[in-house]
Amino acid sequence: MITMAALLLTGLLTQKEVIEYWKHFASQLLELYRSLHSEPELSFEERSTAQKLSERLRNEGYEVIEGIAGTGLAGVMRNGSGPVVLVRTDLDALPVKEQTGAAFASTRTAVLNGQEVPVMHACGHDVHMSIWLGLAQLLVRNKDKWQGTVVFVGQPAEETGAGAKRMLDEGLYQKIPRPNYALALHVDPYLPSGTIGYTRGAAFANVNSVDIVLKGRGGHGAAPHKAVDPIVMAAALVQSLQTIVSREMNPTEPAVVTIGSIHGGTRYNIIPDEVKLQLTVRSYSAAARDRILNSIRRMASAIATAYRAPATPEVLVDAGNQLATPATVNDAALVDRIVAAWQKVLPKERVIERSPEMIGEDFGRFGEVTPPIPSFMFRLGTTAPEELKHLSEAGLEPAPLHSSYYLPDVESAIPAGIEAMYIALTDLLKR
Ligand SMILES: [Zn+2]
Ligand SMILES: [Zn+2]
Repeated sequence: MITMAALLLTGLLTQKEVIEYWKHFASQLLELYRSLHSEPELSFEERSTAQKLSERLRNEGYEVIEGIAGTGLAGVMRNGSGPVVLVRTDLDALPVKEQTGAAFASTRTAVLNGQEVPVMHACGHDVHMSIWLGLAQLLVRNKDKWQGTVVFVGQPAEETGAGAKRMLDEGLYQKIPRPNYALALHVDPYLPSGTIGYTRGAAFANVNSVDIVLKGRGGHGAAPHKAVDPIVMAAALVQSLQTIVSREMNPTEPAVVTIGSIHGGTRYNIIPDEVKLQLTVRSYSAAARDRILNSIRRMASAIATAYRAPATPEVLVDAGNQLATPATVNDAALVDRIVAAWQKVLPKERVIERSPEMIGEDFGRFGEVTPPIPSFMFRLGTTAPEELKHLSEAGLEPAPLHSSYYLPDVESAIPAGIEAMYIALTDLLKR
């Protein structure tokens, strides 16, 4: 287990304080983690999760505001004059059936769109919450080491891309002191547990969801000439869409077009009236995003014409319940400052630069306000180094986020996450 030994070197904590802190809180935090893990809740339904966090923050003396964006919350601790730093955790879990075999594995289900679904913390938000709370406790116990205000934000519905936006729409920054900096972390199974991965600038992608309905004219499968077959149309469109990234985009500009769902027809011998497709589109720049979306529209309508469709296809962007999320762009100066603070105390191999990814995160929204707030989300490794080594020797990779097998090495990752955050906070809130 990585201890908070590095903090001793800096004099940020005395040895006695570290030992005391862990004596009291390591088992409590691991217990909290296991309780969050075994009782996951879906987006905007994180009622008992939010309750657990508010209660604990309040016990620590934080002023807690609940019910922001439904289940969202914020805990404020003022400690003299100085900057305001926001620390965000997300609260929600995913409709995934857990198969980790852990003793505290989730067996929960919930109702989603009228259907019973399994629920699992497959994105590690339970780890984020445990670190967030551990940090809140540590800061209270060391108020003589920092000065300013910390705001702990518990955000619902990260997975649907809706939570951060709704918190801001409901006036988060009027309810709490307006932050000068915003910080968050996200677990990362590809890094050894406790390792910090940082990215300067764009770290996560723009996410757009596209619904396409190709219209044909249904008929008998034995008489295709009397119908207009939307399935053949869809097949052509699926192939054409592959060429947007490979043939239209500048190869140095990151972009993804993935067709995640395609539905049409009911049985062997009926040509259906329509086929529905759902796409996810990833990019970094607004220009790339607009270009891809325009290409999708152009291809859908050109293929409809080519296959004599009786009506133009519907192409709807971000119209479903999956909200668009803007790219998360880490403020370069803030990244450099915090990385320097980490490098001063942590072993070299624990702080590494990590390449950006095309996954989405709505954390970027907390900084994308007027005037903007410098923000930084870093990654925290969650796979035991020995396990990473075994896997790589076997040519394998750890279970990714959102996998039913994702089981983070929390005994190392949670204290390391608290430590990384604590170093960042006490640097930004220097006395
Ligand atoms: Zn996720
Ligand atoms: Zn996540």
